[in-house]
Amino acid sequence: IDFRRAKYLTSAPDISFLPADVGVEVAFAGRSNAGKSSALNTMTDQKGLARTSKTPGRTQMINLFEVAEGRRLVDLPGYGFAQVPLEMKKKWQKALAEYLEKRQCLQGLVVLMDCRHPLKDLDVNMIRWGIAADLPVLVLLTKADKLKQNVKQKTLRDVKAEVKDFGGDITVQLFSSLKGTGRGEAIRIISGWLTA
Ligand code: GDP
Repeated sequence: IDFRRAKYLTSAPDISFLPADVGVEVAFAGRSNAGKSSALNTMTDQKGLARTSKTPGRTQMINLFEVAEGRRLVDLPGYGFAQVPLEMKKKWQKALAEYLEKRQCLQGLVVLMDCRHPLKDLDVNMIRWGIAADLPVLVLLTKADKLKQNVKQKTLRDVKAEVKDFGGDITVQLFSSLKGTGRGEAIRIISGWLTA
């Protein structure tokens, strides 16, 4: 699959407004500011495809991009905004879990985390829900350019060791939108899910 051919498809304010549950989807999730939009733009080689640096606390849409006929990347709203009321956070968490559980066309989950602050509670929840839904999970440790080589490798080892206990099919890799680190490998894995 040529990710550079990705096109914006549509946005949904809520899980219930997503397009018909046919074809194949891979979802992208992460705390706000984890570098999710940047990663999508890097993978598709399109600077403005996913919007970066969204205003925290604003209601966010689920954005869908088509990389090939019937094959979509789903940009889920970032989680973990400090300013969002607890009730709304809980509602979103529930909706996300439900999406992972019920969406038939979903074939994989990408969880992005800033490599300097990996595996926060909400990240762990996402990964566990993905596994519970029987999805393969790709964990991208983003902004890898921000850490020194030895620290980066230690983080990678530590995260791999920690997620091993979750069971399931989890791949962990370093990623940098700035440097292109991990781009090819991530695309290879996601393409595999989209075409399986
Ligand atoms: P999102 O909220 O998860 O979509 O995060 P964004 O993609 O908007 O990125 C949040 C911030 O991190 C922005 O200021 C980006 O420029 C920065 N950022 C994202 N990816 C990288 C990266 O690979 N390296 C560095 N150094 N900064 C990054």
